This record gives sequence, C-alpha cells and structure tokens, in this order.
Amino acid sequence: MTPHPPAAGDRSRVLTGDTPTGRLHLGHWVGSIENRLALQEENECYFLLANMHAFTTRSESPEEIRADTIEIVKDWLACGIDPKRSCVVLQTEVPAIAELTWYFAMLLPFNRVMRNPTLKTEIESKGLGDKYSFGFPMYAVGQCADILVFRPAYVPVGEDQVAHIEMCREVARRFDQIYCGVDSHAEDGDYVEAGGVFPIPEAKVGRIARLVGYDGKQKMSKSLGNAIYLSDTPKQVQKKVNKIFTGRQSPTEPGDTFNALFEYVRAFICDADRVSELERKYAAGEDIGDGHIKQEVAGAINELLDPIRERRADYEKPGGDDAVIDVIREGTARANAVAEETLWLAKEAMKLDFFPRKLTEG
Ligand code: ATP
Ligand code: MG
Repeated sequence: MTPHPPAAGDRSRVLTGDTPTGRLHLGHWVGSIENRLALQEENECYFLLANMHAFTTRSESPEEIRADTIEIVKDWLACGIDPKRSCVVLQTEVPAIAELTWYFAMLLPFNRVMRNPTLKTEIESKGLGDKYSFGFPMYAVGQCADILVFRPAYVPVGEDQVAHIEMCREVARRFDQIYCGVDSHAEDGDYVEAGGVFPIPEAKVGRIARLVGYDGKQKMSKSLGNAIYLSDTPKQVQKKVNKIFTGRQSPTEPGDTFNALFEYVRAFICDADRVSELERKYAAGEDIGDGHIKQEVAGAINELLDPIRERRADYEKPGGDDAVIDVIREGTARANAVAEETLWLAKEAMKLDFFPRKLTEG
C-alpha cells in the first residue's frame, strides 16, 4: 500500500479534542477553540471526543460520560465547528486508536510516561493520590495514538497539553526510525519524505496558553469546579466573575495588574485602549473599584457568549440529541477511513501485514 500524502492539496491535517468530563469553558475557547475555528477554514480537521479517556477517572459514571459527550458536541457546534468541513470523531468507535496505543506503549519507557509533568500535575490537582487506575497514565500513551492515527501537521491545544504533544512527537520519531529506517538525524519536517509513516506534529498553543480559573489559583478546568462554562447564563457568568479574589481593600488602593481579574480583562475586553486605561487606573489606585471592573469583564464575556448561546439553543430543542449523534456518526465514518489506512501503514512497517483484515462480511 502506498502512503497517501498527509492531506489533499495544500490542506494540512489538524487533530485535537476534548475529554467529556464536563461542558466546555472559557479556557477551551482561548486555549484551543479559537485556533480550531481559524484552522478549519483552510485545513482538514478532526475533532476527537476522547470518551474512552473519560473512563480513566470516571469509570463508575457511564451515563454522565455519555451525556457530556453529547453536550460537548453541542458546545462545538455552537462555537462554529462546521461538521460539513470538519470531522467530529468518537474515540470509542475508532478501533485503530486502541490498537496503536498498544504499539506505542512498547516504544515508551514506563518511567518516561510517569515523569510526564502534565500527568503529575493532574494527579495532584484532581486529588487522585496513589489510587488512580492503571488506565490513567495510559491515557497519555493513548493520546499519542489519538493524534498520530490522523497523521496531522498541527495540534491546537492549551499549554497544559504541550508535554503530551512532546511525548507524541518522541513516539512518532521512534516509530519512524525503528520501523521505517528514518535516520535519527533527520529534521522533524522531513520524516515523511524520508519514508516515515508518521509526521512529527506541531502543537499550536492558543492566544491564552493557560487561563486561570475564577478561583484565581489553578488552571480553569472542567474537573476543578473553577470554570465559567460557554453554556452558563449571563447571571451565572456575573456571579462567577464576582468571586475572583484580588485581596484589594479599596478603589484607591494601587492594584496588581497581573492578578486573575486582569488576566480576564486582557483576555475578554476587546478594546485595547480600554484595557490600557483600566490597567493604568488600577495600578495607580485612581478610584476604580474591583466591582466595576468585574461588571465590565462579565459584560465582555457575555457579549462573546451570546451568539454561542443562541446557536446552542437550536440543539437543545427536541431532536437535538439525534442531530448531534448524526454529526458524530458521519464524522467518525470519515475518520475511520483515514485511521484504518494509518493502522495498515503502521502494521506494514512493523511486519504485521500478514493479510488485510476484514472482521465482518457485508
Ligand atoms: P479536565 O479537568 O477533565 O482535564 P479540562 O478542563 O482540562 O478538563 P480538557 O478536555 O483536558 O479540559 O482540555 C481540552 C483542551 O482545552 C486542551 O487542548 C487543553 O489544553 C485546553 N484547555 C483546557 N483548559 C484550559 C485553560 N484553562 N486554558 C487554556 N487551555 C485550556
Ligand atoms: Mg485537562
């Protein structure tokens, strides 16, 4: 089998995704979704619902994982992900991902996986202690397969995922060197030309690499109860923004413009002159109260979310879930054509191409 070029014409392939552990929040928007929307204009995009990975921490809650899977697609569609252009892909219906995960697990030393800083941070921040499942660290290996099964050029992610992408790049290099004879001195951009199955994909980190949660401490995260959701009502948004703690006592006290509140000012108030004015007044303690700034921030967030809420409402009507499942079914079918091709190329390289398989007839 001759490898197809990674994408038709000059369109590059792009892969990214979310774990259905809750609805999408503003961190997703600034960290990855804005980039996804821009990239889908010109590229062949695959957006993965990592529902298998949701079981690594919530295996006792299958109903919730299922419900969150549907809700995330509603969020994607509401944000402007276009299912005609891009594939919405359900991880559990792409068997090639699980198979590649096994092969990649053999290429990564156990200690290398356990040293992954993103895993370490997650174990700590999610309070997993030493009781996490065997599958939990395995998800980092699985994510290499999620990505590489589409042989993408780019992976739009937030900063917390960069360590995972680095591991994925290592696996791709190792596979291509061991099984495809690519020279270890080859430039990352030359791996496919040198005969490798896998390109070495690049992370594309969003406008805000790591948006802090409204607790002002940890990264905004679905699992940490510190998120402003894209589907929150205007009132909920205001209430959460009001909770951002600055420690400032009065409107005339000079404030630190690198606090969480100002992170939100810079992230969501579009008028650059207004942002500079707020920064100047706040730093000088020029009679500007936190309450006022919080109102402006919530107003800006609500302006951003209004059209998203409006589009989401269409999928909340009766029949909305069925429409979402159709989108997933179609996207996953298109994705499987690419994933099966990649798996076969990998098997050929690994001398596992005894015969092409057909598991069922008809
Ligand atoms: P969980 O708490 O289950 O890990 P999460 O909120 O971290 O959920 P993920 O599904 O793990 O969300 O992440 C999806 C994508 O969004 C990833 O690319 C991740 O880097 C990005 N992302 C998540 N949170 C943020 C954030 N606070 N700032 C920037 N990017 C983020
Ligand atoms: Mg996460």
